[in-house]
Amino acid sequence: MTGCLTIAGLGPGSSDHITPAVEQAIAVATDVVGYIRYVARIAPRDGLVLHPSDNRVEADRARHALDMAAAGRRVLVVSSGDPGVFAMAAAVYEVLETDPTRWQDVDITVLPGITAMLAAAARVGAPLGHDFCVINLSDNLKPWAMIEQRLRLALQADFAMAFYNPRSKSRPEGFRKTMQILKSFGEGNRPVIFARAVSTPDESIMIVPLAEAQPDMADMQTVVLVGSSQTRTLSHKGAVLAYTPRSVKG
Ligand code: SAH
Repeated sequence: MTGCLTIAGLGPGSSDHITPAVEQAIAVATDVVGYIRYVARIAPRDGLVLHPSDNRVEADRARHALDMAAAGRRVLVVSSGDPGVFAMAAAVYEVLETDPTRWQDVDITVLPGITAMLAAAARVGAPLGHDFCVINLSDNLKPWAMIEQRLRLALQADFAMAFYNPRSKSRPEGFRKTMQILKSFGEGNRPVIFARAVSTPDESIMIVPLAEAQPDMADMQTVVLVGSSQTRTLSHKGAVLAYTPRSVKG
């Protein structure tokens, strides 16, 4: 009997942000595969085997999940946020392509989740209310020169931006360079949002003008949103909000 493989997003942290479809998939799974911190969010129960693994072993994890599904298990691969955003869904398809016949009978379903930038944007208003782009600032899987080029072109095109994986202990330089490039474009008053551990008990959110933004305001648990030239801040009931109007005059 062939099982199935579901790749699900657990949202940014709070169980309130898990979709009913993902809850249902968790309820019927026989095996849960994923990074330790995400598997820890699944409540243990009889009949469910948890397979936590370390970071950076995505391909091994995907192969293991596909093999268990081919052997008849109902396997759930979990990511935080959305599984298609810098996460396990692409990793599974990369592995699938290496040996298409081996897993040809496995049904694969991707269940979306609320990605970090959308949870962060919602906390501060609507900074992504007009066109925006998303860049993963980690150069583990692509050259730094490509990141820098995309950043410059996004600035030229006046997109608002969301940065994932902005800064880790092993690569503090990239985000420092990113901030330099952003500041070199002028408009020091465009808002920058540092949203850390959104929708978890450790959540902290800062909105600062670009001129005051510092590289150490971000870490690996932070998603950084940078306004376009049109993004505005306003005060409402004592809180500072940021939003980007939907229209731009031609
Ligand atoms: N699939 C995930 C992203 C994985 S990449 C998603 O869709 O959200 C990991 C990066 O996501 C982190 O470095 C951080 O930039 C961001 N991130 C994930 N969860 C977050 C949270 N709760 N708050 C802020 N940023 C988060």
